[in-house]
Amino acid sequence: MKCSLSNLFPGSTPSITLAKFKKLGIHNRFDLVLHLPSRYEDETRISQISELKQGTSAHVEGTIIYSEVTFRPRLSLICQLQDHSGIVHLRFLNFYPTQQKQLKVGQRIRALGEVRAGYWGMEMVHPKCRSVVNSTPLKQTLTPVYPTTAGLQQTTLHRHIQAALNDIELSETLPKNLLSRLKLSGFADSIHLLHNPPPDTDKDTLIGRIHPAWQRIKFDELLAQQLSMRVHYRQRLNRNAPRLKALGHLTRQLLRALPFSLTTAQQNTYLEISHDLEQPYPMQRLLQGDVGSGKTIVALLAALQAIENGYQVALMAPTEILAEQHYHKLCNWLFPLGISPAWLSGSLRKKEKQEALNKIAQGGTQLAIGTHALFQNQVLFPNLGLIIVDEQHKFGVQQRLSLRNKGGEPHQLMMSATPIPRTLAMSYYTDLDISVIDELPPGRTPVITKLVHDNRRDEVLERIHQACLSGQQAYWICPLIDGSDTLELQTVLETHQHLVQALPDLRVDLIHGKLDAANKTRSMTAFKMGETHLLIATTVIEVGVDVPNASIMVIEHAERMGLAQLHQLRGRIGRGTTQSLCILLFQEPLSELARARLKIIYENTDGFEIARQDLNLRGPGELLGARQHGIPMLRFADITQDTALLQCARTIADEMLCNFQQEARAHLQRWVSNKQDYLYV
Ligand code: ADP
Ligand code: MG
Repeated sequence: MKCSLSNLFPGSTPSITLAKFKKLGIHNRFDLVLHLPSRYEDETRISQISELKQGTSAHVEGTIIYSEVTFRPRLSLICQLQDHSGIVHLRFLNFYPTQQKQLKVGQRIRALGEVRAGYWGMEMVHPKCRSVVNSTPLKQTLTPVYPTTAGLQQTTLHRHIQAALNDIELSETLPKNLLSRLKLSGFADSIHLLHNPPPDTDKDTLIGRIHPAWQRIKFDELLAQQLSMRVHYRQRLNRNAPRLKALGHLTRQLLRALPFSLTTAQQNTYLEISHDLEQPYPMQRLLQGDVGSGKTIVALLAALQAIENGYQVALMAPTEILAEQHYHKLCNWLFPLGISPAWLSGSLRKKEKQEALNKIAQGGTQLAIGTHALFQNQVLFPNLGLIIVDEQHKFGVQQRLSLRNKGGEPHQLMMSATPIPRTLAMSYYTDLDISVIDELPPGRTPVITKLVHDNRRDEVLERIHQACLSGQQAYWICPLIDGSDTLELQTVLETHQHLVQALPDLRVDLIHGKLDAANKTRSMTAFKMGETHLLIATTVIEVGVDVPNASIMVIEHAERMGLAQLHQLRGRIGRGTTQSLCILLFQEPLSELARARLKIIYENTDGFEIARQDLNLRGPGELLGARQHGIPMLRFADITQDTALLQCARTIADEMLCNFQQEARAHLQRWVSNKQDYLYV
């Protein structure tokens, strides 16, 4: 049973304590019970001082034989603690008068702390000390140490958690036969063990979270996640969407007009999408494929299938540049089919915007292309059958949700060029179906990547100079600095000035986020037409831009950029037939993380592999941008390590929804009931 916090701390509990509990995510007694230790202290036995080992944690008992405050090298309290076997030094840099009193010569104490080799031999810095008499009993269980927040003491947490453990009944939510088949420990036993582990428990398996008790908790968490997403998935099957038959008269025309034939992977993914669109419930499919794998054309086929059936399609891209590029590219393909898309972006003039809105609202356009402006409230689609979201990871959950609410219940196709590793997708996108384009169009030569120290810029300039004179084109990318647009602008302007001077016989141009739309378009068009040799750009060109003749890219301060971003940027080249080169300029000193990233991007070209290693490096939260987007993260399980558990939870979730619905409900109730968003992400 759940109780609110006010029931928990009746009467006298100061609201300030309640606030601190809330800060830890503890809102009720079940949350308290699930507030699990991050580590343990062992006060169940005493070590002999002569046997202390450097680098280990130890609990010793003895008499204080020396206690002095010294001022050099800095104020500290130095004590010596002696037992029958030897002496250890205790050192305190901050201390209170009460502590000084507790540690007076002749006092008998137990000290718990990390053993280090100090100036005078073995020492403990800031050990936890307890005054004892000979008969003071030892603890019966390992002492849990809980994650906490400033001003909330371990003892307070400990007291409330123990009370909750005594009060609430931890019923079993898993059916018995599942438990024994999966060889999982019971829920209540696991929780009790983790809070009060018996002295003989292997501490390493507790801290490493591989103890069977931990396995059970992690399994439950993963199971809840899988259940809630599967429930959501099933609910979708009960909602209505237009059936969009693969009539084929438009899609076939497009395929005939294409200058290339689809890769097998493109054909297969389109078939999956096409089949979904024919169903009477809304599709929610994620189309994954590495940079340059040709997702746009697959999306366009899907759009045409909707249009064939008399429905409208909305295509949304995260940046104006990308949206506009889609617009132009699709116009080229669609005009011959008699389709004229509408263009809608935040930077349109009022009158143009109104025209576009009218065109959409009157059903005068079958395809609307734009940025998120497309989904603001005043945009009304009378007949929306399909929404396509490009680079979906750039949009928040809120935006994805608001899409669903436009014009009834359209189908949804999301595209992601930051491949999501399998385990991540399995864990966080279980409410979606996923199609993967797992091959690149033929004839691409992999990009060569070089890591170059910033002090070799001159050589880089010369290289670009030669390449451009022989007809190639290049990008020069400046990073976002310290998250500041102003600094970014300044750098990009300075770099531009510098490169114009350094390369007087090349045509050097500039594009950045602060340019107005017309100038961005002008810059991009000139580059596309081959009129510009070298384009200095901020990361605005990160996603989707497609200029096949560009074969060199220099990325400044590559050490500051994330892997996904580097991979995306690099994906802008290697699109034509010339051998492409990506030069990552870096400055020292390199942090360990930066070094790891550069190594990964240097060694790998496959976006899925890069994403997998990125996941190991940063964890799922960062990779999904969950902080901004509000995806509830797993607290206990770690999908990079608990892959087998995740797999198992996934299978069991389906089994429970079929055969053990009551238990499934109880399990969800326990884990998810106050986190509604779990269900709706
Ligand atoms: P992404 O998956 O990164 O969005 P795009 O859809 O922009 O990739 O496609 C990248 C480039 O490859 C485009 O110029 C596109 O016209 C081209 N392309 C797509 N499919 C094929 C194919 N089957 N054969 C040859 N070129 C293709
Ligand atoms: Mg794309």
